Amino acid sequence: MLIKICGLTNPTTAKQAAINGADYVGLLFSNVSPRQVSIDNAVAIADATRCGGAEVVGIFVDEEFDEMLEIIKRLNIQVVQLHRDKVRSYCTKLDPKLQIIYVADDKPLPTNLDPKRDFLLFENMVPFKTQFRYFIAGALDITNVQEKINTYHPDGVDLSSGVESSLGVKDIKKVTDFIRHIRPERYGRFGGRYVPELLIPPLFELEKAYATIAKTDIFKQELNSILKNYTGRPTALTEVKNFANSIGGKVRVFLKREDLLHTGAHKINNSLGQCLLAKKMGKTRIIGETGAGQHGVATATACAMFGLECVIYMGQVDIERQAPNVTKMRLLGAKVVSVTSGSATLKDAVNEALRDWAESYESSHYCLGSALGPHPFPKMVADFQSVIGNEAKKQFFDTVGANPYAVIACVGGGSNSIGIFGAYLDDLDVALIGVEAGGTGRGLGNNAARFSEGTPGVLHGSRSYLLQTKDGQIVDTYSISAGLDYAAVGPQHANLFEIGRVKYDMATDKEALNAFRILMRTEGIIPALESSHALGYLISHIDDFPDGSSVLVNLSGRGDKDLPSLISSGVLECLV
Ligand SMILES: *Cc1c(COP(=O)(O)O)cnc(C)c1O
Repeated sequence: MLIKICGLTNPTTAKQAAINGADYVGLLFSNVSPRQVSIDNAVAIADATRCGGAEVVGIFVDEEFDEMLEIIKRLNIQVVQLHRDKVRSYCTKLDPKLQIIYVADDKPLPTNLDPKRDFLLFENMVPFKTQFRYFIAGALDITNVQEKINTYHPDGVDLSSGVESSLGVKDIKKVTDFIRHIRPERYGRFGGRYVPELLIPPLFELEKAYATIAKTDIFKQELNSILKNYTGRPTALTEVKNFANSIGGKVRVFLKREDLLHTGAHKINNSLGQCLLAKKMGKTRIIGETGAGQHGVATATACAMFGLECVIYMGQVDIERQAPNVTKMRLLGAKVVSVTSGSATLKDAVNEALRDWAESYESSHYCLGSALGPHPFPKMVADFQSVIGNEAKKQFFDTVGANPYAVIACVGGGSNSIGIFGAYLDDLDVALIGVEAGGTGRGLGNNAARFSEGTPGVLHGSRSYLLQTKDGQIVDTYSISAGLDYAAVGPQHANLFEIGRVKYDMATDKEALNAFRILMRTEGIIPALESSHALGYLISHIDDFPDGSSVLVNLSGRGDKDLPSLISSGVLECLV
C-alpha cells in the first residue's frame, strides 16, 4: 500500500514524513490552495523529502504550461499530479520520462498514459474498473482508511487534511500514527516481511494469533504469573553508589537488574511469552536458533517448563566456542542441531531454522530471540520485553520522584534496549542511548556497530541497518561479547536512529572489560559482557552528563556465562 501525503509546507515535516515511511510527498504551487508553497520553500522541501527517502510529487491545478515546466525543472520533479481540465490537457505534451498521477473523472483518459508507469487518482469518487494502478483520496484519516481500502482495493492512499492539526498544518504525530496504522509491519522505511513465499502462511498465522490470543486478559494474567512466580519478576532497581563514586561521583546510577532473572538474562521474558503463545496456538514443537547459546538456553528452559519439544540450530563454530551452554540445552531436553553451512555461525543457524519452519509450521513455532526478523517478530518481541521498561519507569519514579536524565542499554539485536526504551519513547526530555559493540575499534569487520559503519539493507526477513560490503555481502562482525556480535539490528532501532529519538554509539571491548571489572569490584555484581558495554559507555562519556543527574542503565544479564571464554582467552588474569 503506497502512501502519499500532500500539501506539505515545511522541510522538517516533509523529511519526518519521508523517514517515517511516506512514499510520495506532494507539493502545491497554486494560490487556489491554502497549502501553497513558494518556489524557494518548495526547493527546500523537495531536498528534505528526498533526503528522507521519499519521492517528490508536483501537484498542478491551474498553472500555465510554461510555469509548470519551470517548476518541474527547478525542483527536478520526476512525478506530476494533474488536476482539472486545463492542466490535464498538458498531459500529452509532457516529457515521457515523467511519471503521471492523473486525477480521473468520467471523461476518456489521454492516450499517452501508460499503465506500467502512471497512476490514476480517484478523489471523492468511486474508482471505475481500470488496468491502471490507483490512489484513492478524499477526507481519508486513521478512522476511515481501512474501510475504504477494503471497499475500493487501491494501490495507494492519498492524505492531506486527515493528518493536519489545523488547515494546512501537518501534524507529524498524526502522520506517523497513520502510516503505522496502515503498515504495522514497518517502522518508517524499515522492517517488513522479506521472506520466501513458503514462510508467509506461518507468519500470517502468527500475526493473527498474536493480535488475538496474546491480547486477552487470560493470556496476560497467565504470562504475568509465570514471570512473577517462575522467573522472579519484578526485578530490582539498584542504585550503585560505590560504582558512581568510583567513576567521579557526578551522577547517580541505577541498574535495572535483569541479571537477577531465572537463567540470568532478559531473554527468558521473550522465550516464555512466545512459548506460551505457541502452546495456546496448539503447537507442540519449538524451533530456535542461537549464537552464543543464551537464547537457546532460555528457549530450552521455557520448553521444558511448558512440556514442548525443542530443537535449537547452532553453528558448528559456536557449538565449539560455547560448550557449557550446549550442555545446558541438552540437559534441559533440547536437541541441538549443528549447522556447518556458510561460516557455521549465527546467520547460518537462522537460515536453517527458517528452512525447518517452512516445512514444519503446522506443528512448530519458530521462537526468534531478539526484536529482529520479519513482522510480527520485532513488534512481538518488543512487547514481551516491554515489562522491563514498564517496571523500571515506575520503580525509578517511586525512588527518585522524576524520570531519569538518560536511559542507557546495550544493543545486539535490540530486545533489551527496546524493552527499556519503550516506556520512555514519548518522554522527549529523557535521553535514550543505545550502545553497540565497538570491538577493537573503527573499521568494517572490527566491531558490530551497525549505526556507525552500516548501511540500510535486508537480512533475515527485514530491512534495517546492516554491516555489509558495497555489493551487499554481509561482513563478519567482531565483539568480545557474543550477544552483541551480529551484522543486523532490529528495524525499530533503525527508525529510532533516523528520526533521532535514540542516540546510538559504541563501546569497545576494552571499555566494556573496564566497566565489567569496576562493577564487580565496587558492587559485587558480575555483569554480562553485553551489559558491560552500556556501563563502559557511561564511564567514557561521563562528562556529557550534567552534575547531579540520574542515569538508568539496563543490566541485561549476569556475567557468569562469560567466565569460561574469559578464562580461556587469558583476559581474566588481567582483571584480578
Ligand atoms: C543476547 C543478549 C544481549 C543482546 O541482545 P538484545 O536483543 O540486543 O537485547 C544483551 N545482553 C545479554 C545479557 C544477552 O544475553
